[in-house]
Amino acid sequence: MSRVIIIGAGGVGNVVAKKCAQNDSIFTEVLIATRTVSKADKIVAEIHEHIPGSKTTFSTASVDADNVPALVALFNSFKPELVINVALPYQDLTIMDACLETGVHYLDTANYEPLDVAKFEYSWQWAYREKFEKAGLMALLGCGFDPGATNIFTAHHAKHHFKEIHYLDIVDCNNGDHGKAFATNFNPEINIREITANGRYWENGEWVETRPLEISQDIYYPKVTTRKSFVLYHEELESLVINFPTIKRARFWMTFGESYIKHLSVLEGIGMTSIVPIDFRGQKIAPIEFLKAVLPAPESLAANYTGQTCIGVQARGIGLDGQPKVHFVYNVCDHAATYKEVQAQGVSYTTGVPAMIGAALMLTGTWKKAGVYNVEEFDPDPFIAEMNRWGLPVDELAGIELVHD
Ligand code: NDP
Repeated sequence: MSRVIIIGAGGVGNVVAKKCAQNDSIFTEVLIATRTVSKADKIVAEIHEHIPGSKTTFSTASVDADNVPALVALFNSFKPELVINVALPYQDLTIMDACLETGVHYLDTANYEPLDVAKFEYSWQWAYREKFEKAGLMALLGCGFDPGATNIFTAHHAKHHFKEIHYLDIVDCNNGDHGKAFATNFNPEINIREITANGRYWENGEWVETRPLEISQDIYYPKVTTRKSFVLYHEELESLVINFPTIKRARFWMTFGESYIKHLSVLEGIGMTSIVPIDFRGQKIAPIEFLKAVLPAPESLAANYTGQTCIGVQARGIGLDGQPKVHFVYNVCDHAATYKEVQAQGVSYTTGVPAMIGAALMLTGTWKKAGVYNVEEFDPDPFIAEMNRWGLPVDELAGIELVHD
């Protein structure tokens, strides 16, 4: 019996809302609040059409999540227990401030990033720890797939398979095809900023920087394919190397097709991915914002998407029996199946389902502690059980090294 506000009605917001509608014994009243309210209205209409038996009551509202007083007024009028933030990383701090002011728990899927600096890290949000503790409130950070499920998979390795994890490789393959020459699977601004930045991985107690897409190798993704994969910096590395201090090296790998890289390097070469505003006919506009307006909306890719994603975590180290061990935990998700179920492509689905699960675990008190936490700080078992139940089955592969030194 819980009242929840979902902020954001993009690709991920759509999935979170529909999974809440499926899990209606926990999510009884849901308000979808976003900048463009017609997008929230569309989601609610689809819920009535595709999940007609759901007992969850939905309403919608327009809100500017950059504006704390506007958020506070909204939270005070709806009185939610929890806010699920699936707007953009730029809004994390304003939403956390509004939660503190109104006594509401908080969950997100991406760490804070200032609008004008291409830099994302947890420091800004970890600085809220004391405030949340004192208020008796919980903030759960990075509860999507990566970050999110990948942190949980690491916690699962640590709990069930390893005495010490030494080498961690997180691998993310999207082997899907949406038929477009160039498009990003989630918010283009965030996606392009992530990929065009320098890479970084953790080794022997420090960060090693690489040029964008400098390091690559072919990786076999079980049940899906073998694909060239590139090292890039990804935010879960920051909390994982702190929470699992035996890790000597932690890397994140992602697949990109040749055509994707070709388009991206041309766009970058001509300055279209820049976040520095330029003057255009008397208006200041960041080229990347204009590019976003030109590219297909991530949610529009869903209808014709085929193929699968495979995201997992390989750990190497000392097993519980004291012997060297390698183990892989992963999920495979099918784009066409997720479209059939919730009218979304797999990348939105793999993010939205863990967000719903994290919220459900907080609302039922399974995961409940005042303060600001990353997901690996909680027991992974109930989370993995819920992944198996809500459409993201978890598989394991023992003794085969998929990612090499
Ligand atoms: P979209 O761009 O599709 O959707 C973002 C939504 O937030 C839109 O509805 C947008 O409104 C709304 N929004 C943006 N700014 C504001 C604002 N100031 N006030 C109110 N609403 C606002 O993004 P996605 O759904 O693809 O991604 C959502 C989040 O999930 C992002 O933070 C992304 O980084 C994260 N993510 C996390 C992943 C993970 O595995 N952990 C993977 C993929 C994404 P409007 O429609 O008006 O623009």
